[in-house]
Amino acid sequence: MENRVVIVMLGPPGAGKGTQARMMSEKLKLPHISTGDMLREALKNETELGKKARTFMESGALVPDELVDEIVAERLAGEDCRGGAILDGYPRSIPQAQFLSALLEKDNTRIVTIGIEVGKQELIRRLSSRWTCPKCGKMFNANLDASVAGGKCDQCGTALVQRKDDTPEVIAERLEVYGRTTQPLVRYYQDQGTYTAIDGAREVDDIFKTIMTGIAG
Ligand SMILES: [Zn+2]
Repeated sequence: MENRVVIVMLGPPGAGKGTQARMMSEKLKLPHISTGDMLREALKNETELGKKARTFMESGALVPDELVDEIVAERLAGEDCRGGAILDGYPRSIPQAQFLSALLEKDNTRIVTIGIEVGKQELIRRLSSRWTCPKCGKMFNANLDASVAGGKCDQCGTALVQRKDDTPEVIAERLEVYGRTTQPLVRYYQDQGTYTAIDGAREVDDIFKTIMTGIAG
């Protein structure tokens, strides 16, 4: 368990958190554990905790924080997590962060929090770039070609539309919700001295280099 490190990834939708987590996973040879994948795995393997989670999910309810804590603890005890892990989507609340801190302290594991920060306008620009052809279904990205926004499909000439989830108004609301739940976590890890802010408004490779330097430090 020497030099074991668990990396907590924080960052709003559109910040490129998942991409960075995958790159780190490859470089550091640590499993990338996203909450969604982990829950699906527990269900598939029919572990005791997975069965408990199933009853909540089948009734359409959220899996309670405490149960997610137990599933994370079980996952982190796995053989492939001997060197540590990269957590993506967990913790989501202060009680979960406290649970994780206590768990890792017991295992003598270092915790590093990487917060990928991108300004709201840039996130809205990134997330609202998707346009679709309602006739043939072809997808377009307005960041790659500005004429896509409000333009026509190059296959069939139909006027392109944006899905409701991809409109700036809905995206702003999602970011608002994200900020409300995540700000307390950022403060928690800042207080613990484990938070490293990373400027996410740069090239993917530059961001990755900065993160790797931050982890080494
Ligand atoms: Zn079309």
